[in-house]
Amino acid sequence: MNSNEELFVQSKKYLPGGVDSPVRAFKPYPFFVKKASGSKIWDVEDNVYTDHCLAYGPLILGHSHSTIVEEVTKQIAIGTVYGAPTENEIKLAKMVIDRVPCAEMVRFVNSGTEATMGAIRLARGFTGKNKIVKFEGAYHGAHDYVLVKSGSGGACLPDSLGIPEDTTKNTLSSPFNNKEKLLKLIEENKNDIAAIIVEPVMGNIGCVEPKDDFLKFLREITSEHDILLIFDEVITGFRLEYGGAQQYFNITPDIVTFGKILGGGFPIGAIAGKKEIMELIAPLGKVYQAGTFNGNPISITGGLTTLKELTPQFYKDLNKKSEKLRNRISDIINDLGLAIKPVGLSSMFQLYFNSEDVFNYDDAKKSDVNKFNDYFHELLKKGIFIPPSQFECCFISSAHTNEDLENLALSIESALRTVF
Ligand code: PMP
Repeated sequence: MNSNEELFVQSKKYLPGGVDSPVRAFKPYPFFVKKASGSKIWDVEDNVYTDHCLAYGPLILGHSHSTIVEEVTKQIAIGTVYGAPTENEIKLAKMVIDRVPCAEMVRFVNSGTEATMGAIRLARGFTGKNKIVKFEGAYHGAHDYVLVKSGSGGACLPDSLGIPEDTTKNTLSSPFNNKEKLLKLIEENKNDIAAIIVEPVMGNIGCVEPKDDFLKFLREITSEHDILLIFDEVITGFRLEYGGAQQYFNITPDIVTFGKILGGGFPIGAIAGKKEIMELIAPLGKVYQAGTFNGNPISITGGLTTLKELTPQFYKDLNKKSEKLRNRISDIINDLGLAIKPVGLSSMFQLYFNSEDVFNYDDAKKSDVNKFNDYFHELLKKGIFIPPSQFECCFISSAHTNEDLENLALSIESALRTVF
């Protein structure tokens, strides 16, 4: 049997950095997964971890939920991809439309990246304008329009080699939760902005909530200036609440993007929005969007089966359980008297290794990432797997038992004692 270390030596020969997505490559080497079930994940050395990374968000029911396994297995037996429409796509679209305030029509794609790429093209096509505004630190996928994090109000420079500056010159950025700077940016680019795209809760710089009605402000300012408001709910969709962040914060955008939970553990993405906008998508309209695997029957079945489980009561239970955990973690940090800021909402949580409030990316960057790294490794030693980066968010699923969560709280306490 190969150890984690041996597999990493091999994988580095064949896969750039030994992994297929950058955040997975933590030092000295990641564990290689053998199997997973419910709240647990096993590596090839038979170490077992309680999983709070949960594949970065999709697994709100835990790993290999029995009904999903059953339904998807049935679907595999009758075909995996057809290149022709199915009734299940209509059923899933209806479920999304029933739950999500802004959703009147849906286009299913294969990832969050494809969803935001399509949504931005759609907004540009609809408004006839080119510029978009994103928030500093927000992640909307790995495509050229949005792979910019820096910038202080001006046009952003690409965050990656291989992206022409010409591509990102129309991508502006502004700090999250800062109304004044955004107003100035809009004023400077009047009549040129097609859309503002926002993660309603910033889940890619840890976990940062909108403050002082920031989302309401976004809704008002965009309506006033004929700018479309896009909620990127790839993380928050079907996570925060039955109807996602739109329901949780009671703000309705024009377009929404989904991914993660919507596929029940299989690859998916979706663009949804108001009918007059969605009708512009090909073949009905002139905004091109297409995909061999769009509306893939496996992912659609995973999504249908998952959403059936996610009732309003499901969210009451999961959010209550999660709140109890977050309170427990806050008490531990208070008792230890440490300069740590625990954050989170619904079934999301994270710690910043700095005692100040975090409103935006600059605040998040003040966290002591070396301490975070030590904390991550201490938790791993204790059999807890969280994302290996300060700038990700931890999740709780319905598969986590009260015992799992109490064990997590005790492990955090013990890890923090070691780190400080
Ligand atoms: N938007 C947000 C808010 C995300 O968190 C992510 C992925 N973490 C994406 C878009 C991209 O999704 P995918 O990885 O499925 O392409």
